[in-house]
Amino acid sequence: MHKLQQYKDKHLWHVIAVVVIVQVVLAWAGMHVYTERELRYRHQIESGLKSNNDRVLQSLAKWRASTLAAAESLMDDRLFAQALSRWLVQHDALVRDDLENRLRSLTERNEFAKVLLLDAEGRILLATAGAEERMLPEREQAALQQALRQAQAVVVEPYRQAQFAYPTFSVLTPLYDGLQPLGALWMVVDLRANLFPLLNAIQQGSATAESMLLQREGSDVVHINPLRHRISQPLERLASMEQDNDLVAVQAFAGIRGVLYGPDYRRHQVLAASGVVPDSPWLLVSKIDVTEAFAHDQRKEGVFLGLLIGVSAFLMLSTVLYWIWLTGKREHVLKLELENHMRWLERAQKTALLGFFSIDWSNQKIALSPMAAEILGIQGLQQLTFSDFARYIPPEQIKPILRKLLEVRRHRTVQKIEFDLRTQHQQAQIRTVECWCEMEDVAVYDQTAKIIGTIQDITQRKATDQALEQYRNLLEHQVRKDSLTGLSNRRALDEELDRAWRHAIRENQPLAVLVIDIDHFKGYNDHYGHLQGDVCLQQVAQVLEQHVQRGHDHVFRFGGEEFVVLLPNTTLSQAQQMAAHLCQTVQMQSIENEAAPESQVVTISVGVASMTPTKSDSLRACPLMEMADTALYQAKSAGRNQVCVQRPD
Ligand code: GH3
Ligand code: MG
Ligand code: MG
Repeated sequence: MHKLQQYKDKHLWHVIAVVVIVQVVLAWAGMHVYTERELRYRHQIESGLKSNNDRVLQSLAKWRASTLAAAESLMDDRLFAQALSRWLVQHDALVRDDLENRLRSLTERNEFAKVLLLDAEGRILLATAGAEERMLPEREQAALQQALRQAQAVVVEPYRQAQFAYPTFSVLTPLYDGLQPLGALWMVVDLRANLFPLLNAIQQGSATAESMLLQREGSDVVHINPLRHRISQPLERLASMEQDNDLVAVQAFAGIRGVLYGPDYRRHQVLAASGVVPDSPWLLVSKIDVTEAFAHDQRKEGVFLGLLIGVSAFLMLSTVLYWIWLTGKREHVLKLELENHMRWLERAQKTALLGFFSIDWSNQKIALSPMAAEILGIQGLQQLTFSDFARYIPPEQIKPILRKLLEVRRHRTVQKIEFDLRTQHQQAQIRTVECWCEMEDVAVYDQTAKIIGTIQDITQRKATDQALEQYRNLLEHQVRKDSLTGLSNRRALDEELDRAWRHAIRENQPLAVLVIDIDHFKGYNDHYGHLQGDVCLQQVAQVLEQHVQRGHDHVFRFGGEEFVVLLPNTTLSQAQQMAAHLCQTVQMQSIENEAAPESQVVTISVGVASMTPTKSDSLRACPLMEMADTALYQAKSAGRNQVCVQRPD
């Protein structure tokens, strides 16, 4: 777990933080560069379109000025005026031929479609390519009168007229003989051949770029040149100033100059540049679809953004891969740890000979781990019913087991259950097992929750425990025994005296103590040797034990050659009798003692004390030993081999 934590904290959060920071910086820088580049590209494209429009505009202005100049130059041609004047008077065929030649060369030189000679009333006198009508059309007639009045060439702007099959632009140049008006020259230009090619320049290399030469006719905007994206005749209506005011063409006529955005006649969003052709009512609008204009730009931006997204995606992918790698590593570590735990558990199970089981109360089934099954002596089978299980247990133990299991279920407590087991192999052999049981989920009360627990064969342990207990008891016993005489020793006396003292207080009974000392024993030892002294001690002890027979009476070896007899529920006189009896009996054994000057045999002296202690005596230690000892001292002083008593104060 420690390792896992390390991986989690140290590496992953650092990586995530770095990735997030890099992504934010990339996004910010990307947006910044993107906006700047977009503005620059937009500006470049707009100014490119504008300069293209200006170029076309200049060529148009030049063309118009040169056409007009060519027309006006005839006004100063004196020879032509004189020839016309002569022909008008004489109708000379030679002069006519000459005039016709002049008109033809004029046509060819200036690439006019047609040049017509008119008289001052507007009648057509001569024409380069034959004249269908004899009179001027209305609009040209008005221009003729204006030209004659002003003595200068007058332009007839393009309009749809029935006389010509092609779109025309014409100039009327008045002719004078001195101050006398003679007539005029009507020079017709075929716009298809002369003007329109100038307007096509912008289309090269573009799918949508188009220049439109426009003029107003009332509230209509009319296109002079044919449209690129609509099949239409020149000089048709393009838009209405009132209804189509969002179109770029109408915006240009409304006075917006320079670069503008908006829909064109196809309703496609276009980028447009507009300008007025100098000295004319013409307006030039050049436009290109926004999608095309910025396609290159968008492509470049696309590459840039693609790069940005690519880097981001790479970082993200790297993070994800790193995450996956880390998860894999963590899983690996986890797996290893789990395996270690499992191995450890398995080993622990084997060494502890511990089995696991779970009890499903709802279907009365017991599931066993392999070790649990082995403990029960079952091979293969790892599930038991309650009744199957009961067969392994002595009948009288089933009820207590059930009671404990119910306790576990009801009160969610942990219970230790110990019971005997008859294994299948050896029905006769009783083994003892110990189970620890608890509910699998202690926190939640759930009827379906199972009882789980461990089972352990404790037969061996129990046997050992019993042996140990016996050994301990033996030791306890021996600690209180005197090894030489086999009597209880002084330690036992201390305990027993205390117990007897309390009992006497409780029961309000007398308690008597005899302190016995062998007379002249030092001398005995000196005379017979220490070993014989020991034999003597054993003989006396045996005599004392044989004659202290009452149930609770007890003889102790106090130490050396001194003995104590404890006589519960014994009055002083009874104790005195007993002491005298013992005295006589020992003497009657006639154990030789040459060191005893009076008797020549082993005798004893006895100090006797007895009292009936009251409740108030419970606070103090038993004084009987001291009292009896005092009495013994008196007996010794009085000549030995006798009994003295000490009465309580
Ligand atoms: P008294 O009549 O005044 O009691 O004289 P006594 O000689 O018995 O007096 P004392 O108490 O001085 O002597 C006790 C002797 O008991 C001393 C010691 O050598 C002997 N003795 C004590 N314990 C043992 C024992 O375990 N074995 C043997 N052989 N002798 C012991
Ligand atoms: Mg002594
Ligand atoms: Mg003695």
